[in-house]
Amino acid sequence: MATDHHGAPRYTADEALTRLREGNARFLRGEARFPTVQKEVLAELVRGQEPYVTILGCSDSRVPPELVFDAGFGELFVVRVAGNVLGPSILGTLQYAGAHLHTPLFVVLGHEGCGAVQAALAAKFEGARHKARIEVLLENILPSLEGLDGTAPPDVLLRSAVEANVRGTIRTLLETPEAKARAAEGVMKLVGAVYELETGRVRFLE
Ligand SMILES: [Zn+2]
Repeated sequence: MATDHHGAPRYTADEALTRLREGNARFLRGEARFPTVQKEVLAELVRGQEPYVTILGCSDSRVPPELVFDAGFGELFVVRVAGNVLGPSILGTLQYAGAHLHTPLFVVLGHEGCGAVQAALAAKFEGARHKARIEVLLENILPSLEGLDGTAPPDVLLRSAVEANVRGTIRTLLETPEAKARAAEGVMKLVGAVYELETGRVRFLE
């Protein structure tokens, strides 16, 4: 990841979001465009990358962003980490995406049945203990779970926790100076989304 782009982005944030929605719709219809990658595409990408979106998603093997959005090589700049949490290296990666790749759109992509969010719920409401490094990871999720009703049915609780975790990450990102500046310029959009495991649908949050 070494190529800088100084020109105007190929897509606006809204156009980038439309591309994701359309890609997910093709994926749902079983009409994905990218069964293979042609040599010409690879050759063109040697010259540089200009992804139209940066996605912070979960490491969960069931949520591969390129497939879910029917996107090809060079289109998505992806960070995957359990629970789609932030942390120093991840913030650095996102800063790189903003400052050097100028992706107009940033998406925080949570998903139903997230094991990391589930573990954070167990720590919060059942006092469950985890291995030290996992606890560090969960500390990034716990603040977003404030205000959730621990007596709700487990599936309802997990669903609201997944969404709360996405919204919490968005809130934290919006507080960064870069996000404030770029949002004020109106050139960048930051959106939350939740992937539905059973249907394959991506639900973009308001
Ligand atoms: Zn997950």
